Amino acid sequence: MLYEISKEKSAEYLRQAIHHMSRQDTAFHPVSYAVWYEYSSGEHARLIEEVNSLIEKEKKLNEKSTSHLYNKHIASMDADSAQVLVDRFNQVVTDITSSTQKADKDTTVFRKALEAWSGEIHHLDAELGVKFAPLLSDTLQMQTSMHSLQTQLESSLKEISDLKSEIMKAKQEAISDGLTGLMNRKGFDSALHQCLDTVATDDTCLVIADIDFFKRVNDSYGHLFGDKVIQAVARILKTVSGDLYTAARYGGEEFVLLLPHTSVEMANEIAETIRRQVAAITIKNNVTQRLISNITVSLGVTAYQPGESADSFITRADQALYTSKAHGRNQVTMLTEDLATA
Ligand code: GH3
Ligand code: MG
Ligand code: MG
Repeated sequence: MLYEISKEKSAEYLRQAIHHMSRQDTAFHPVSYAVWYEYSSGEHARLIEEVNSLIEKEKKLNEKSTSHLYNKHIASMDADSAQVLVDRFNQVVTDITSSTQKADKDTTVFRKALEAWSGEIHHLDAELGVKFAPLLSDTLQMQTSMHSLQTQLESSLKEISDLKSEIMKAKQEAISDGLTGLMNRKGFDSALHQCLDTVATDDTCLVIADIDFFKRVNDSYGHLFGDKVIQAVARILKTVSGDLYTAARYGGEEFVLLLPHTSVEMANEIAETIRRQVAAITIKNNVTQRLISNITVSLGVTAYQPGESADSFITRADQALYTSKAHGRNQVTMLTEDLATA
């Protein structure tokens, strides 16, 4: 779900959402806001239908029904949409908080003036002073309500900040690979497009690495051992890439490295370093307690050709990789031009 509506329109949904929220038995929090914002936008037919039927039956939504609606219709939304929703609610609460703080300050000034007058009047005319007393207690009452609203708003702000961290975490998880902690294919594809949009010159290089005969590794030592091999290769890529390059696990036992501002000769050297370091890996087989070595990777290197698509850039790096495989594996091939497709 993507939000692509004008500011005016969203302001109208927001106004309606707050109006609806204020009529329910729920506190003002992002979950309730999300439900009512979606309801007000009129886009979510199933949500609207269920809200209407609940209101018809129960008159108002409570915490339980609101949370049920949220989980059923909204919780599965993608992190970007959730981020937009939470940011908007944050804005609403921040605005209300600052208005309340100002009102509280004004009321304090008013109450103090009232207390001073009340003292003076009581001094001059005791009967009139007694009549003044309810005004003072009403003002105090108003201030107490305002303080309680402020406390509620503070807790809303805390909820918002928790939600924001959760969204950040979800976003991060969506682009990382669980086994290695490297970026996953989705993250890499978007990093690659971003890089090509900004620094699309021929000193942008790509290295693709694929573990050799990995099926055999799994078959000989088991899948868990295979996982350890993938993690060990990923660690090497992470170290080699540092802060300069973007490394990712592109598929099962395949890795990519994007190297902006790097000549193809330099990229070739980096690929060679990776090859050498992988060939030096030793991992203990927990079943036999023996150290296993002989793990190798084949690599392909290429430089970006200005104007070409991300797909053709990747395809050429792939062709380089498969040349390394075809020529015996455990080697690096650099390709500056596409292989003939005949
Ligand atoms: P080549 O040298 O030609 O690349 O041969 P290969 O055996 O490495 O290639 P192939 O594509 O035949 O096999 C890849 C294997 O990688 C098959 C698959 O079971 C395994 N694999 C993919 N993802 C994982 C994973 O996450 N963990 C483990 N242990 N194995 C995986
Ligand atoms: Mg392989
Ligand atoms: Mg492979």
